[in-house]
Formats: sequence, C-alpha cells, structure tokens
Amino acid sequence: MNKPRVAVFDFACCEGCQLQIVNLEEQILDLIGAVNVVEWREAMSEQSHEYDIAIIEGSITRPEDEEKLWLIRSRAKILIALGACATLGGINKLKNNFDLNDVKKCVYGKDASKPHLYTELTKAVDEVVEVDYKIHGCPIEAKEFISIIRSLLIGKKPEIPEYPVCVECKAKGNPCLWEYGQLCLGPIIRAGCNARCPSAGHRCYGCRGYINKPNVEAAKDVIEKYGLSVEDLKSKMVLFGSRQDNTL
Ligand code: SF4
Ligand code: SF4
Ligand code: SF4
Repeated sequence: MNKPRVAVFDFACCEGCQLQIVNLEEQILDLIGAVNVVEWREAMSEQSHEYDIAIIEGSITRPEDEEKLWLIRSRAKILIALGACATLGGINKLKNNFDLNDVKKCVYGKDASKPHLYTELTKAVDEVVEVDYKIHGCPIEAKEFISIIRSLLIGKKPEIPEYPVCVECKAKGNPCLWEYGQLCLGPIIRAGCNARCPSAGHRCYGCRGYINKPNVEAAKDVIEKYGLSVEDLKSKMVLFGSRQDNTL
C-alpha cells in the first residue's frame, strides 16, 4: 500500500507549531515512517507538487498567500489547519481591529508609503479555502497532533473536543481563577490542552477558539455572580478572538 504523501507549508506565523512537531523526536520518527513526507521547509530541502495531505501553519496576509493556498487546496485531498494562526488568524489578526493604514505607519514608520508594502486584513485559512480538519492551540498540543494524524491514517474521523476548558480544569482539581479576580475564558473555549494555562495560574486566553455551542446562559450567570458584565468578558477575548463570531 502506498503511504500517504504529506506536505507541510507555513504562512505568517512564528513556526512554533511546527517546532512542537519537530520536538516530538522519537515519536515523530514513528509517524514519519507511516507517511511519505514530500515537502516540509522547516525539516528538509525537497519540494513537491504532488501530495495527499497538506498541513498549513500560519495566517494569510497577502494576495500571493491566497493564490498559493488555492493551489495547495487544489492539489490536496485533505487540508489541515495547524495552530491558532491558521485556525483563527491568531495573534496576527489583532491588526484587523485597527485602521490598516495606521498599522502600516506603526510597523514601517517613514517607509510606510512604499508601494510594495501591503495592508491586507489577516485571514484564517478557512476564510480563503475549505479546511477539512483544525488542530487547535498556540502552540498546538503535540500529543493531539499525533492522535489526529494517526486517526486520519487509519481512516477514522479525529476526535476534537467540543466541550470547554473548564471540564479539564475541574477534572484536574484546579481552583477556579474567577475566585481570584481573573476573567478566565475557560467556559467558552474548546478543551484539548488539559487546561494548560489555568493549571499554571494564568487565565485561559482562548487560543483553541470558541466551542461551537457555548453555554451562553451559564457563562452570563458566572459573569453576574462575580459582579462583571459581558463587556468585561469581551474585552478579554481580543487576543485570539479578533473578528471571530461569538454569541455573547
Ligand atoms: S499558533 Fe502560536 S505557536 Fe503556532 S505558529 Fe501561530 S503564533 Fe506560533
Ligand atoms: S479557572 Fe478557568 S478553566 Fe478553570 S474552572 Fe475557572 S473558568 Fe474554568
Ligand atoms: S488554557 Fe486556553 S489559552 Fe491556555 S492553552 Fe488552553 S485554550 Fe489555549
């Protein structure tokens, strides 16, 4: 049986999610043995236009990125968005909250008027092409990456949590950070990180994106219980929630 051909591409990002994969060391060797990696700029110099699975890291910020992504989509049977930059637009999308000419001046200073500099809105991958699977997080969880790829290799639909971070946080016996005045986004954000941030004493910033059907009424009850408003909570949803739909 032919091994599935896999290609990894990166757009605007810090490449930290790819680094999580590289850091898998022995486990990545097992995984690589089950596939045929034909392109992966961070790990090899070969390139290919023929692949079955395309893994996309990074957000889309330039017209030429969109053209490249359309081409990748046309060649891949399965397209996976890897990490918050790709699944949500990530931190890069913060700029969409401002006038893009101001952003350009802030970044490029006196060179801002040069014609080759662009002022496009940042997009998540699924704002440009259809995405088959999303691997969430900033950075991704390496174990979840392995589990999703293994599922795909045996033709099984990967299991991606559709319940909130609070479920994992409670299971770990963590004290709730709302009790200590931190507006943690755990009630409305997708689990799968094993409550990484609350377990270290930091609120959830929302890097895995909103769950599809957040229990809005329960979230509002919690907000009221602590004497806060929905607007207070929304003010904490900007880092990974810029220009995302939400129901609050
Ligand atoms: S999601 Fe986070 S870790 Fe991954 S590439 Fe983007 S900024 Fe880096
Ligand atoms: S700390 Fe955050 S994730 Fe944990 S239970 Fe409280 S709101 Fe939920
Ligand atoms: S706790 Fe929230 S911000 Fe932290 S890794 Fe999990 S989803 Fe991301």
